[in-house]
Amino acid sequence: MPDASHTPDPACRQLDVAIVGGGLAGLYAIHRLRKLGLTVRAYEAGSGIGGTWFWNRYPGARCDVESLEYSYSFDEQLQQDWKWPERYGTQPEILKYINHVADRFDLRRDVQLNTRIKSAVFDTRANEWAVTTNTGEEIRARYCVMAAGNLSTPRVPDFKGIHDFKGKWYHTGLWPHEGVDFSGKRVGVIGTGSSGVQMIPIIAQQARHLTVFQRTANFSLPARNGPMTPEREGPHKAEYPARRAAAQETPFAIGGYPRPTRKTLEVPADERARTYEAKWQEGGSISYLYSYTDLLVDKDANDTASEFVRNKIRGMVKDRKTAELLAPKDHPIGTKRLCLDTNYYETYNRPNVSLVDVRSDPIQEITATGLRLKSGAEYEVDALVFATGFDAMTGALNEIDIRTTDGAVLRRHWEGGPLTYLGLMVSGFPNMFVVTGPGSPGVKTQMIASIEQHVDWIAGTIDHLATHQLDRIEPTSTAENEWVNHVNAVADSTLYPLANSWYVGANIPGKPRVFMPYVGGFDRYKKRCDEVAAGGYPGFTLSRHEPAPAR
Ligand code: NAP
Repeated sequence: MPDASHTPDPACRQLDVAIVGGGLAGLYAIHRLRKLGLTVRAYEAGSGIGGTWFWNRYPGARCDVESLEYSYSFDEQLQQDWKWPERYGTQPEILKYINHVADRFDLRRDVQLNTRIKSAVFDTRANEWAVTTNTGEEIRARYCVMAAGNLSTPRVPDFKGIHDFKGKWYHTGLWPHEGVDFSGKRVGVIGTGSSGVQMIPIIAQQARHLTVFQRTANFSLPARNGPMTPEREGPHKAEYPARRAAAQETPFAIGGYPRPTRKTLEVPADERARTYEAKWQEGGSISYLYSYTDLLVDKDANDTASEFVRNKIRGMVKDRKTAELLAPKDHPIGTKRLCLDTNYYETYNRPNVSLVDVRSDPIQEITATGLRLKSGAEYEVDALVFATGFDAMTGALNEIDIRTTDGAVLRRHWEGGPLTYLGLMVSGFPNMFVVTGPGSPGVKTQMIASIEQHVDWIAGTIDHLATHQLDRIEPTSTAENEWVNHVNAVADSTLYPLANSWYVGANIPGKPRVFMPYVGGFDRYKKRCDEVAAGGYPGFTLSRHEPAPAR
């Protein structure tokens, strides 16, 4: 309830929950929170719902978690009814699925499109959030749910001369809806992360010539995509609830892969090679990383798995120099997001594809006709594609001016890196929840499982407050600090910090180097969240807002 001193603006929309984002997280939040009888509305910057899958329409965009896993689990009939045509869903297919879910559960009436949230200010006296949009609208809401995504702030490096480029340029995360025809064109792609690796083989088939500018080689495994077969779909759907439950007992929230039981170096080299080969043939990244218990914690163990893939690359790419450039040597396999591809390495055998190493000779500037490297070498292209990633995990929230009337400012609070308790809430910012934020395992898991787990926890928390006649919750700074230290300690016990990845903000010059995701595993994390809720929310301060005395 707003306090007596606050006079609500009649033109202002009053909600129980304002949701930022209309992607997979925002949509599920609408569905779940409505069930509590709350008035909710999601604000989405795009002209359509779908978040990541609305924006990332680059050629070859596809999820690298299998479709039967990468889908909502909250409704049994939905997961039975939906037919995935392929083992891994394409961007159009996933977007179609999201739109189906929105219609099926009547979610659209609570989504406001073409609306970017500019600021969110917690009014301490009124005990509510005042949220403003790019159109000047103001919304007041008891709770704010930040479902703005982790990879939703596309980043084009600050290259000198970019505005002089006479051709067209694109970013993978802002792809034109009408598509791009590269036929007959000389195309330059900058970036070889998951987006680049998926796109490069497709553009190579169209372009007159494709030049790939690579700063860091990435490990990629074959996806072995194919049509969905009855053999794959039938048994899965027959025991869907049990499979979903089993997935929750795993670190990546992905079921179906037996947990490893042995350490890498306990196993004779020839047996190891057979295991890696079988996993390579099977396709997929979890299976490979699940070969042994210690691949992500023991460098010597990891070297065996890394070298196996390097040798595969050397076997696939005919030109030896190109093969060596493509074989990653600066980070252990799995410590950056492991890519999945279809014919990525083979693409470099095409006569119309060349690879340029911009680690040894960095891009100096974009010119009117292409780009120039530090050495002075020039490359002429008709189109440039930036597969250069995102201001990950903190970008979307730092773009919003989030503060409180008490003087707390999120950007300042996060100056040295994001601070959260459980990745779910931030001290000093009451009643603001973050879905799959920094400090949570979200990006290291099957995202939709993490989204559902977070939104369910948030719904449970709001319900708990209501049933106990409480109306404010925020984590203590002690709990927040302890959690951040724990997140760091867990990361430091693994090989993850050895890689310059977006997990540590390494792709953004000047971004604080902090390991942002929780890599202790979805299973351990969920248990902790459940215990916190069941134990009456230790680490949080729950209160009832007392109206301020009238002045
Ligand atoms: P990314 O992994 O951050 O890759 C960006 C690439 O751009 C890197 O190769 C990076 O090199 C390069 N780059 C950045 N700035 C550069 C510069 N100034 N000069 C030269 N190269 C530069 O971004 P992404 O490929 O878009 O993927 C981001 C994440 O989105 C993935 O890790 C994954 O979680 C998700 N994703 C998933 C899928 C899927 O499910 N299949 C597909 C696409 C994306 P450095 O490595 O040297 O920084």
